[in-house]
Amino acid sequence: MQRPFDTPPTTHMVFVGLAMLGLVFFLFQLLSPSDRTLVSRWGATLTQSVAANGDALAANSSNALVGTAAQAGRGMGAEARPSGNPLQAANAVMTQGYGVGSHAPAATWGAIDLAIDGDGNGSADPAGSWDHPIYATHSGVVKVTPNSYPAGNHVWIENEQYRTGYAHLADFAVKGGQVVQRGDLIGYIGSTGMSSGPHLDYQVWERHNGTWVNVNPLEFDVLGQ
Ligand SMILES: [Zn+2]
Repeated sequence: MQRPFDTPPTTHMVFVGLAMLGLVFFLFQLLSPSDRTLVSRWGATLTQSVAANGDALAANSSNALVGTAAQAGRGMGAEARPSGNPLQAANAVMTQGYGVGSHAPAATWGAIDLAIDGDGNGSADPAGSWDHPIYATHSGVVKVTPNSYPAGNHVWIENEQYRTGYAHLADFAVKGGQVVQRGDLIGYIGSTGMSSGPHLDYQVWERHNGTWVNVNPLEFDVLGQ
């Protein structure tokens, strides 16, 4: 199209110009319905998330939740990647490292143990740790497993790319199927399952080519705050 309106508009030029305008308009009409579909799909996802946060979560809405989790992962916003300390406390301390002791081999049992130094003497103590709140480190869908072994009362939070595990809880603050965001309260420190004292066992798994791979939680700013 060589700037037809700068040249004297012959009948031919006007016809060509109108035809091209029509073509552009036609293409725009073709494209815009898909935009609207995308918007309404996200709207539906948001509605499902709100419903999932309510207490009236029915078993037959689990399909919608799976869809929500997939959408959250596909979007891969900053909230989807684990970040921060699940105890959100400046006096949180690590009582067992990654890949050692009961956390070995790391590929299967990789985790870190966290507890609270309540009296400020540099090491964790039960009094400061019991029932301390635990928070989601990323967005995802909750899976709750009560009284399991060795994890005790256990919470998974999972999206398409990441899964975090929170073990030995005294009690839950979430229900299975619930959608959480980073910073949401999910439970309280306890000593359920195979545990010698109140602490949080925290795991991070990352999906690689469809397989969940255990990764070091310390790579996700656990002690960086
Ligand atoms: Zn542990």
